[in-house]
Parts: sequence; C-alpha cells; structure tokens
Amino acid sequence: MNAQQTLSVVVPCFNEEESLPLFLKELSSVAKKMEVEHSLAFEVILVDDGSTDRTLDVMKEQASAHDPLAIKWISFSRNFGKEAGLLAGLQHATGDYVATMDADMQDPPSLLPQMYEILQTEDYDNVATRRTTRQGEPPIRSFFARMFYRLVNRISKTEIVDGARDFRLMRRSMVDAILSMPEYNRFSKGIYGWVGFKTKWLPYVNVNRVAGETKWSFFSLLLYSIDGIVAFSTVPLSIASVMGTIFCIVAFIALIFIFFRALLFGDAVQGWPSLACIIIFIGGIQLLCLGIMGQYLAKTYLETKHRPLYIVRESNIDE
Ligand code: UDP
Ligand code: MG
Repeated sequence: MNAQQTLSVVVPCFNEEESLPLFLKELSSVAKKMEVEHSLAFEVILVDDGSTDRTLDVMKEQASAHDPLAIKWISFSRNFGKEAGLLAGLQHATGDYVATMDADMQDPPSLLPQMYEILQTEDYDNVATRRTTRQGEPPIRSFFARMFYRLVNRISKTEIVDGARDFRLMRRSMVDAILSMPEYNRFSKGIYGWVGFKTKWLPYVNVNRVAGETKWSFFSLLLYSIDGIVAFSTVPLSIASVMGTIFCIVAFIALIFIFFRALLFGDAVQGWPSLACIIIFIGGIQLLCLGIMGQYLAKTYLETKHRPLYIVRESNIDE
C-alpha cells in the first residue's frame, strides 16, 4: 500500500458567513466517507477575500470543528477578486489532488467522490463540471453569456467552454502547470484551457446558492468578459489594423473619383450631409480602434508593474 494521499479543497470566500458553515458541514461528511473508502486525507484552504461581514470569524471558529478536515485559512487585506482567491488557494494547497469550489453550495461536495473515482480509473488529468442549463438566470444575461462564448471561441485559439464552472478536481501536475503562469490578469476559464491536459466534463444541473447573493452584477460580468478576450486573444488588434487598411483603400478610390468628377463636371458645392456622415463614421471607427489598443496597453501596463496579486493580512498557515 502506498502512502496516504491528500485531497485539497480550495474555497474563495467573499461575504459567505451564512453559507460557509453549511458548506463545511457537508464537505466534512463527504470527507469522512472518502477517508474510509479511499483512505484519503482532506485539506481545506479557505481564502477570505476581504469580506466585510463575519466570514473570517466564522473561518476561525470552524477551523477545528470538522473532524477529518484540516482547515487552513488565509485572509486578504482587502477584496482582490475571486481569481486572486483561487490563486492563493492553489499556491498553498499541498494535496496530490486539488479541487476548487464555491462556498455557496452551488458546487455540491457530494460530486467529489465521483470525480475522484474518475481520476483513479480513467486516463484524465482533471474532472471539470459544466452546467447544462442556464435556468434561474435572467434571459438577457444568458443571451450575452452565449454571445461572449461564441465570440471568444472564434477569436481565441484557447478553448473556453460555455457553462464551465470553476468546480474542478485536478491532479498535481495540472495544478503546477497553472501555478507556472505568472500573469497578473487571470481569467481561469482561459487558463484551464491554455494549460491543456485531459479534461473529463461532468454535466450537472445548476442549483441556486444556499444563502447570500451572487457578487456578479451585469456590469462586472461585462468587464470580466472584456478581460477574458484581451487575455486570450489578440484578434481585436488585428481587426483594428484590417479596418484601417480597408478605410485607406476606400479613401484612395474616393479621392480619385472625386478628383476626376470635379475636373470633368466642375464643383457644385453639395453633399454636406454625406460628408458629415463619413466624418462621423470614420471618427467612430478611429475611436473604437484606439479603445481596443488602449485595452491591451492597459493590461500590459498592469502586467509590467509586477504587483502582487493579493496581500495576506492574516493566516493560520506558517510559511
Ligand atoms: N468570491 C470571491 N471574491 C469575490 C467574489 C466572489 O472570493 O470578489 C467567491 C464567492 O464567495 C463564492 C465564489 O467566489 O465562493 C463564487 O461567487 P458567486 O457565487 O457570487 O458567483 P456565481 O456562483 O454567481 O458565479
Ligand atoms: Mg455562486
């Protein structure tokens, strides 16, 4: 029999004081079962992403209350976002297998045994979940989400799967690959696709969170989608150059046309409305292209500053 293996569960938490105890309770009962059946040790890394409620206190209280779970917690100095939370968790996870989960029970811990089983018996490096429906979501949000996935997959070589949740169970090798990506703008759905490895997709039906509210507004999702596109595709930049070229050609043809027309038929002053339209149109395209370049420049600027992705204020992990 080989040495006991460990499964780490990484949980980013932002204002989850209500959900967290429920989640840990469920997770510990799953852990008890798996400890017996697979002799697997469980480690949990809770990342408090600058919560403004009692989340951190709850973490401290619960840290020793769920027997087979070895609970570690990290608390950020402010809210750095879910991606930073996930990264901190992955960096501190020591397990041979690492799962990433939400604290709101939308990712049911009861799926873990099945996911683990798959990694044991089949030739996959990670098991990921994707929801099969977008039920319970405002229709307009679903519409834009679909548009986003269609667009980003067309313009990016990295596969970004529609409906993929951040609930995954990975082998150590994949976790190390993810940690080797030092970028500041982290878009996990793209990162998972970029590192490759063999992924088994488990479809499951979406469930609503047990308590609290989603932290994503429509606007924050919109900004996040732009981040995703900029991080994993440079096609918008090419579009800007292609549009520039096309407009140069059109302008050249128009120039010749207008020159000879004036030569042959004289210049009756006319056509102010069409001129105004052309100027406004081209002005708009120019601003759009500048905006696109600005997005990439802004990201480059942030990357070159090499700021830390998060700052730890308090933790029970000794470095
Ligand atoms: N989360 C976080 N930092 C944030 C926003 C969210 O750590 O700034 C955590 C949150 O506590 C939850 C997970 O990320 O565990 C998913 O958030 P949420 O449920 O709001 O997103 P949804 O499930 O609606 O996509
Ligand atoms: Mg959720």
